[in-house]
Amino acid sequence: MDLNTVQEVRDARRHYVWLPGDAWLGGGTYLFSEPQPHIRRLIDLSRTGWEPLRITADDSLEIAATCTIAQLSRFPKPARWAAAPLFEQCCRAFLASWKIWNMATFGGNLCNSLPAGPMISLAAALDGTCLLRDQAGSMRTVRVADFVVGAGRNVLQRGELLRSVTLPARVLAGRTAFRQASLYGLGRSGALVIGTLDPVDGSLTITVSASTVRPVRVWFPPSPNAAAVREAVDHAVAPDEWFDDIHGLPAWRRHMTLRYAEEIRRELAAPAGCAPASCAHPHCAHPDSAPTEEAGR
Ligand SMILES: Cc1cc2nc3c(=O)[nH]c(=O)nc-3n(C[C@H](O)[C@H](O)[C@H](O)COP(=O)(O)OP(=O)(O)OC[C@H]3O[C@@H](n4cnc5c(N)ncnc54)[C@H](O)[C@@H]3O)c2cc1C
Repeated sequence: MDLNTVQEVRDARRHYVWLPGDAWLGGGTYLFSEPQPHIRRLIDLSRTGWEPLRITADDSLEIAATCTIAQLSRFPKPARWAAAPLFEQCCRAFLASWKIWNMATFGGNLCNSLPAGPMISLAAALDGTCLLRDQAGSMRTVRVADFVVGAGRNVLQRGELLRSVTLPARVLAGRTAFRQASLYGLGRSGALVIGTLDPVDGSLTITVSASTVRPVRVWFPPSPNAAAVREAVDHAVAPDEWFDDIHGLPAWRRHMTLRYAEEIRRELAAPAGCAPASCAHPHCAHPDSAPTEEAGR
C-alpha cells in the first residue's frame, strides 16, 4: 500500500542524521502491508551491498540483515552441517507469497519480532548472535534469544541497526529436529519447536517459538527423560507468555509445544539416520505415535 506520510526515501549508504519518524527499510513486506502513520522517512538498506551469506574461517555462518529468504533457501549448505535441513524447514514455515519470499529480509523478520517469525525461530535455535550498530557507529552483540523480548518488541534502541547474525559452527554441526503446528494448511505458525543436539557433549536444547511471545531456549544435559523436558519447558514459559491471537489459543499452543518437545526429545535420542517408522530403538519417535501418558498429560 502507499505510505502517504512518507516524504523521503534515503539510501542508507549516504550520511544522514536520524530523525523522529525515521525507519529502516528492509524488504518492506511488513512496512508496506499496513498504514504507518508515524513514519516520515525510510532509510533504505537494499543498496548496502552487504554479502548475504558468508561462511567464516571457523565454519560459522554470517547472515547479513539484508539477506532475503530466497537467498537463504538457495544458499548451498555444506554436507558437514548436520543442521542444514533446518534452514529450509524454517524458510518454508513462512506464510510467504512469491513477493515475500523474494523481498523479505532475514533482518526485517527479526526486527519485526512477530512470534511467528521463522527466521527468529531458526536463529534462536542455532544460538545465533546479532551484531547491532548504533547511530554513532558503535557495535554491540546480543544473542538472538535475548533480542526479541515480546510480541513485536526487541532490544533495538532508537536508530539502531541490525547488521548481521552469526550462527556458530558447533551448533551447525549438530543434529536438529523440527515441529510446526498451524490451525490450517499453510497457515501462520501457532507453535514451532526446534531441538538441537550438541555434537560434542550430547546436550539437548529445545527452542520454543510462535506459541510464545518471545523465543524460549531450554538446555538439558544428555538424555533427559520425558518428565524433565516437560517440566522444564513448561516452567520456562511464564503463564502470560503463551501467545494469544487469531492463529491459536494459549492453551492449544501450550499443548502442542509440550507434545512437540517430547517428540523432539525422542527423535534426537534415537541414533542419527534411523527411519522412525521401522526403527525398533526404544527412544525412536514414530511420527504417528502419541506422546506417552507420562509426557502427554
Ligand atoms: C501476507 C503476509 C504474510 C506474512 N507472514 C508472516 C509470517 O508468517 N511470519 C512473520 O514473521 N512475518 C510475516 N509477515 C510480515 C513480514 O512480511 C515479515 O516479518 C518479513 O520478514 C519482514 O521483513 P522485511 O525485510 O520485509 O521487513 P520490513 O517490512 O522492511 O521491516 C520490518 C521492520 O523491521 C525494521 N527493520 C528492517 N530491517 C532492519 C534492520 N536491518 N535493522 C533494524 N530494523 C530493521 C523496519 O524498520 C520495520 O520496523 C507477513 C506479511 C504479509 C503481508
